[in-house]
Amino acid sequence: MERILFMRFPEGKAKAFTLSYDDGVDLDERLVALFDKHGLKATFNINSGLYAAEDATYPEGEYFRRLPPSRVLALYNKNGHEVATHGSTHPWLEQLSVGSITYEIMKDREALEEQFGCIVRGHAYPFGTYNDTVVEALRACGIVYARTVDSTEKFEMPTDWLRLNPTCHHDNKRVFELIRNFVDAQPARRPKLFYLWGHSFEFEKFNNWERIEKICDAISGKDDVWYANNIEIYEYTRAYESLVWSADMRRVHNPSAKTVWFKLNGTLYSIAPDETLVIE
Ligand SMILES: [Zn+2]
Repeated sequence: MERILFMRFPEGKAKAFTLSYDDGVDLDERLVALFDKHGLKATFNINSGLYAAEDATYPEGEYFRRLPPSRVLALYNKNGHEVATHGSTHPWLEQLSVGSITYEIMKDREALEEQFGCIVRGHAYPFGTYNDTVVEALRACGIVYARTVDSTEKFEMPTDWLRLNPTCHHDNKRVFELIRNFVDAQPARRPKLFYLWGHSFEFEKFNNWERIEKICDAISGKDDVWYANNIEIYEYTRAYESLVWSADMRRVHNPSAKTVWFKLNGTLYSIAPDETLVIE
């Protein structure tokens, strides 16, 4: 028997789409409404040490307006979105001592976990900057994936989750071409991931809300795309990777708590939690 094996996402889908938006600013309220209307799932990277005061006001023309804690909780705690760390105070992490890096991450984790009653394991690098010391500190803090700002303009699954390069920013000149290519793709082999990132304040700064509206229209509502937040894709991939195979690959056990899908020699299979599947 051949051994041609590829992961498939839930329901056997070969494509996934995810979003990542940073800084916890008030235009996220309009952005979340747009994502929800289109059934899209996003991860929001939050600086819990920089929340605005509940009664904060901003001068006319200031587009960078952070949310107060009450609006943060009301906004992100629903409809399948994820909150992740972005450093407590948005530092250049690679400029800090290991102790200070750890403090920035753990303080943000602790605050978000207490506020949202969840376990936070994701991160986006403030300013997109990092080095190997930062990566190791994140790992020690229990962070399992961290997003960079280095666009690949590709749809590959991450191989190094703590240096997770997105497909592109929403202002990328090729974004609509990339979406078309992604929507048209019918992957027979490796699954494809489209990972889009940005900041909602940019839509006011550059007066281009219609751009993200067009992006949402173009990417949403596809039966063959799994719309998921970042940690869902990470956890699903880990569950797939935890499958235990016999030497002849005719027997496979799923020790995880998720139903997992894969394509073996051209045939699609699913395996339930704790199931052992015998492949005829
Ligand atoms: Zn940021």
